Amino acid sequence: MNVDIAIVGAGPAGLCLARSLADTGLSILVIEQQAQQTLQEPSFDGREIALTPRSVRILKELGIWQRLGPADIAPLRSARVLNGTVARGLHVVPTHGDEAELGFLVPNDRIRRAAYASVEQEPRITLACGITVEQLALDGPLARLSLSNGAEVSAQLVIAADSRFSKLRRDAGIAADMHDFGKTMLVCRMALEKPHHGEALEWFGHAQTLAVLPLRNDEASIVVTLPPDEMRRLMAMDDDAFNAEMRRRFNHRFGDMRLVSTRHTYPLVGVYARRFMARRFALVGDAAVGMHPVTAHGFNLGLRGVQTLAALICRANSSGRDIASVDLLRSYQRMHRRATWPLYAATGAIVAMYTDDRPIARHARAALLHASQALPPVRHAIAHALAADDHRRFRLRRHRS
Ligand SMILES: Cc1cc2nc3c(=O)[nH]c(=O)nc-3n(C[C@H](O)[C@H](O)[C@H](O)COP(=O)(O)OP(=O)(O)OC[C@H]3O[C@@H](n4cnc5c(N)ncnc54)[C@H](O)[C@@H]3O)c2cc1C
Repeated sequence: MNVDIAIVGAGPAGLCLARSLADTGLSILVIEQQAQQTLQEPSFDGREIALTPRSVRILKELGIWQRLGPADIAPLRSARVLNGTVARGLHVVPTHGDEAELGFLVPNDRIRRAAYASVEQEPRITLACGITVEQLALDGPLARLSLSNGAEVSAQLVIAADSRFSKLRRDAGIAADMHDFGKTMLVCRMALEKPHHGEALEWFGHAQTLAVLPLRNDEASIVVTLPPDEMRRLMAMDDDAFNAEMRRRFNHRFGDMRLVSTRHTYPLVGVYARRFMARRFALVGDAAVGMHPVTAHGFNLGLRGVQTLAALICRANSSGRDIASVDLLRSYQRMHRRATWPLYAATGAIVAMYTDDRPIARHARAALLHASQALPPVRHAIAHALAADDHRRFRLRRHRS
């Protein structure tokens, strides 16, 4: 089989990229190891994705946003960062009137379902589900893939969107810097007795990090980060014990808390590929940049990379140039590194500082939150890292406890 572009991985990044290229006339093959039924009806995985206004614009342009129902979208009106026992902390609010939101929360499975539906009927896109890539060869005039069903595919360009633990990245000989934070993140939905007022809460407590992401109907996505052995204890609790434990960990801030979903855990590993391209080969999504979820930017940056790469391919294709030239792929690499590296590095620094429980680190982060009010560069960095990709839209307020 011969195609113009083969995309490996039909996660949100791979599907959004396929959708971005659907009108180019190029033939596109998307290869995914999961069954088609799982892509059509993905199950809840605990992740509520905080989308920035920029990501919402991209999803609208792709016709994916319009496929979400109103019940899938929850507005994020403000965010608060707490350190230790401080009760009010740093407050991030939109600057353009009371109507503006910082962003929107959408369940990951709803994004995946909408992205799949947007490509399912596209005549130039072929979906090969339940199939893995066994071998990648980049030494010939075209890139070649050997698939688990015995098929051989040649393509002008292979794009790996096969997760932060990308096999294709390794097969292409691209090294990646990986950082295992040694912690596990639990995500689930809970009903809260006291209202959240549409405000996200990031609470760097002692020996734990907690977050509340506001959803509809006084429900919230609860995010708890703990060492793996403590997390195993939490996961083993029955619902009643878990509810009581959450109420205690959140210091009764939201009154009674009641589990309304399954619980899901994720190991925290950050990944940054040393290169985003090789000959006739590119990385997108988490395969290029796998962010720590604390700043809620993994998919936002993935979408940005998809937009950058798709625009370069569309431009080359419409002017009859090679869609996989070294120059084109280098431009993508340069632009996407510039867009992602500062945030990736800032996120790593924030996580290191906020999960260090030594007294000196606690004082340092209290000082950082204080400085953020007074010093524009610090304010800029925190707003950029914690709130959204367009820091000019947001204002920070600091409250004394
Ligand atoms: C707890 C949590 C909360 C998060 N919150 C946010 C947030 O608020 N905001 C945000 O922007 N991001 C957030 N993220 C990050 C976001 O979920 C990821 O960035 C996004 O899902 C990555 O999409 P992807 O398509 O690159 O990779 P994935 O979703 O990992 O998809 C990869 C796909 O490739 C397939 N695949 C893998 N290997 C092969 C192979 N060899 N052959 C064929 N198919 C293969 C897999 O089956 C999968 O379908 C969060 C992540 C976590 C864990």
